[in-house]
Amino acid sequence: MVGGLLEGKNGLILGVANQRSIAWAIARSTSQAGARLAFTYQGERLEENVRSLAGALPGSVVLPCDVLDPAQVDTVFQSLRDEWGRLDFLVHSIAFAQRADLEGNFSETSREGFRVALEVSAFSLVSLARAAAPLMTEGGSIVALTYLGSVRAVPGYNVMGVAKAALESCVRYLALDLGPRNIRVNAISAGPINTLAARGVSGFTSILGQVRERAPLRRNTEAAEVGDAALFFASHLSRGVTGDVLYVDSGYHILGI
Ligand code: NAP
Repeated sequence: MVGGLLEGKNGLILGVANQRSIAWAIARSTSQAGARLAFTYQGERLEENVRSLAGALPGSVVLPCDVLDPAQVDTVFQSLRDEWGRLDFLVHSIAFAQRADLEGNFSETSREGFRVALEVSAFSLVSLARAAAPLMTEGGSIVALTYLGSVRAVPGYNVMGVAKAALESCVRYLALDLGPRNIRVNAISAGPINTLAARGVSGFTSILGQVRERAPLRRNTEAAEVGDAALFFASHLSRGVTGDVLYVDSGYHILGI
């Protein structure tokens, strides 16, 4: 029973594209635990989706935010300051790489493709944490989503693996920086889940099958399992944990062969 675990807490969730999004599963877990939530969308294309999903959660706030635009990032936090005064947790569930860089040979990655993947998928965590910290006046929790391709070479994941390695490193350095203010920073390394972003990775379906066949739990990861792990990080239950990466992947990452 998790009801009340996040009662009175305010959370910002970035990365809801549709109801399959991991960010949406996190929204469900944290709102069921009592959190009041704000969501962002990137561009008008997704605004309606996000507004209609958020509409199911009374009191939620919806704001535009392309993490490549520093003015939009500033406006999000100014709005939350005006609306709530305080932020307790932030979920970074955002990644992007050009499609051409998610297939073929990693050695062919373009300079621009490398820059964009790292900026959207890793640097954004730094800029968001910097903007969020002044609002986390009673301490806070920042959670980012990562994948095993950061520490293993996964065919097709390519430049996104490099971006996730950078993201995980950012988690550790941010944890070191923000720990004295009682702001914790962690990552969840999720097993493959069928979402919009995942379908951009070539060979994704066969990766799903591999996990189902070989993971210790012999099944794929459900978004709700990641949602509940994020709830743990957002709550006081994880108060002694920072700078860490928690694998929610049916145990797949422990395999040798
Ligand atoms: P998703 O539903 O497609 O979510 C990805 C989100 O990132 C989308 O809302 C997307 O918006 C947003 N985004 C991309 N560029 C952005 C920008 N410049 N500014 C703001 N938002 C931007 O896919 P997901 O699988 O839930 O992905 C969420 C996170 O989980 C990502 O970090 C992903 O790498 C990670 N993850 C996923 C899996 C998996 O198998 N699904 C496994 C491990 C980790 P647009 O649609 O507008 O681009």
